[in-house]
Amino acid sequence: MPSKNRARQRVLQLPVQKAPIKTDTKNSHIKPRGKTYPLSSSKRVIYEKDYIFWCHECNVPLIEHHCCKCDQEGARMDLSQPADVRFCSQYEHEILVQLIQAAYGCDPIGKRIVLLNKIPGEDKTDEVIVDGVHIGILRFDLSILDYSFDVSADGAKILLKYTDKKTVLIKKKRSHLSGKKISFDQIEKYSDDIKKGDDVLVISGNLTGSGTSYLDSADFVSAKDAVLKVKKIDSKKVALNHRISCIEDAINANMKYIRLLGKNAMNSISGIANQKAYKNLPVHVSFSGGKDSLVVLDLACSALKNRPIKAFFINTGIEFPETVSFARDYCLQKNIDFVEEDAGNAFWDHIDKFGPPAKDFRWCCKVCKLSPANSIIKECTKSGHICLTIDGKRKYESFSRGRIAPSEMNPFIPNQLNVFPIRDWRALEVWMYIHWRKLDYNPLYNTGFERVGCYLCPAALSAEYQRMGEIHPEIYEKWNQYLLKWAHEHGLSDKFVNHGLWRWKELPPKMLKLADNFKIVITPSQVQEPFRIQLTSGISPCRAGGFTVEGIVEGVLVNDARDTMNIIGDTVFSDDLGMLLVKTDYGSVKMFSSGSILATAQTKYDAIRLFKDVTKQLMRINKCTKCGVCQKTCPVGAIAINSNESGGIRLRISESCIRCGKCTEVCVVVKYFDKLIPSLAIENRKN
Ligand code: SF4
Ligand code: SF4
Ligand SMILES: [Zn+2]
Repeated sequence: MPSKNRARQRVLQLPVQKAPIKTDTKNSHIKPRGKTYPLSSSKRVIYEKDYIFWCHECNVPLIEHHCCKCDQEGARMDLSQPADVRFCSQYEHEILVQLIQAAYGCDPIGKRIVLLNKIPGEDKTDEVIVDGVHIGILRFDLSILDYSFDVSADGAKILLKYTDKKTVLIKKKRSHLSGKKISFDQIEKYSDDIKKGDDVLVISGNLTGSGTSYLDSADFVSAKDAVLKVKKIDSKKVALNHRISCIEDAINANMKYIRLLGKNAMNSISGIANQKAYKNLPVHVSFSGGKDSLVVLDLACSALKNRPIKAFFINTGIEFPETVSFARDYCLQKNIDFVEEDAGNAFWDHIDKFGPPAKDFRWCCKVCKLSPANSIIKECTKSGHICLTIDGKRKYESFSRGRIAPSEMNPFIPNQLNVFPIRDWRALEVWMYIHWRKLDYNPLYNTGFERVGCYLCPAALSAEYQRMGEIHPEIYEKWNQYLLKWAHEHGLSDKFVNHGLWRWKELPPKMLKLADNFKIVITPSQVQEPFRIQLTSGISPCRAGGFTVEGIVEGVLVNDARDTMNIIGDTVFSDDLGMLLVKTDYGSVKMFSSGSILATAQTKYDAIRLFKDVTKQLMRINKCTKCGVCQKTCPVGAIAINSNESGGIRLRISESCIRCGKCTEVCVVVKYFDKLIPSLAIENRKN
């Protein structure tokens, strides 16, 4: 399969260079000042609470060892990490029951409480827990674009009490069977409904478990090789509980501990909000219309009864209609001051510049969230105060959020202090709190959405996109049509879109494998971009000493560049030569009206980083989205964003710039420099 990276390397021929340059602003000479966030780390977080308990007396899950209903101790159940276990939604419950009924002709689950525990997988993948037993895995299969259920050994033991479908009786053996391939002569009996690839229920003497069939049962008799593989089989006895409990029973069994969680979270909110610096200020809650922010909104209202609470809602313009209605109605009903900032059409206005967002290219967050959030915070901090914001982020949501601190300053929004009172809660605890407090919640959760962000979020799962198509066909159609058009323009097929491959700029191994299996081309063809940077003669020693990097830029005029290069160094412009000179402490850059750029410095490293810093700013000029985030961030008001003569955007950085680098750090265009000009990033990695 052609590699995307290899294809892009051919576009730009850069010389081999050993200088340790990086593209992020942290290694740029434009050093951002102030505290920065540990947004992510390559080390995977290990979650301590990767278990729950189960009270088999009351047949309910427990968040602590003790059951408040029967006063007995529950049995520990270990969960796969990150262990953000939750109640199964009505929709997921229906899917699960339908799959089991279709495969095995029975429904042992009925109205029992079902828990789902998210585990890593191709797409939506959850361990299924019923009556304290892992009965299997419910997953959305990207090859068939539908759900499937893989039964576990314990799930098979339960099913065998209800069915004789898809069953294989293996001759009793002395040796271990788990993980073994079974040939036809080892089989005593089998049902005639087995299809190739099915999960089968296996029995051998007093052992029971599950396996996978390699063939249709009609072909067993003529098989030369193995007909099935046993996944796991043992003599353990597993059965469903005679008692069927409901969510209310689960809440009662956990009451003391839900209250305690709520009390601790309220203490952490009031502890910070009542500090001298914030005592007389309104408290903001970042309210997205999702379950976690709903809980912190309720906690904040309970913890700070006599304080003004404002719920701010960033309407990205690409929200589900249910989310917008729910957020507005909830605050109206509860008499909470609701502040809505609307990004309007920002997403659609910018998509031609950036293309579809991706998990590793989330320009949409900056354009649709950060800019409106900045406006709210600016209003809140106009008298110089800190804007105290209660936020519902949780560690267990994903590995990337595993290291949330109790509170932190937002590095992208000046003067916003975020407090995370439920950062240690798991989804099960969030839902128990919601049910205990009888809070209304976003109806999307009942329809199969585990999270309720923007409807076209690249972080959403294919299962959720499919569901969106069922619930909101008109919205789905608009987005899908855009994706198909974009794919066709870039030489990609419908399958690239249908299998969700557009959601990554650089595909992870699991998606590369899927693309390989389905023979899907993943390398977009080169489209003539209005902005291009190319190195010409590369990096070379100067006669006068030092090194130069030469390149050519298309899409930015030297006249536009002269308005912004104060951010890099002192500028001199020669009308006669049509040349802009930018001087810094460690080198200089010349830019000519032809588009040629020459960066010179004493070391190779400095010459390269100077070239990159200049080209980042040039790209910023060309691709500026007019989001205004940089303007709001600049401590000295040095930035102006106007229209130029041809109706385009004119970015100007005045001489009052103190070169703090803050605007570069927050700019969406600069942040994704590597994604927008991937060939330069590849060369960086080589260096
Ligand atoms: S324009 Fe403002 S934010 Fe940007 S580097 Fe200059 S002073 Fe800093
Ligand atoms: S230059 Fe400023 S206004 Fe333009 S995209 Fe970057 S942050 Fe937004
Ligand atoms: Zn109990």
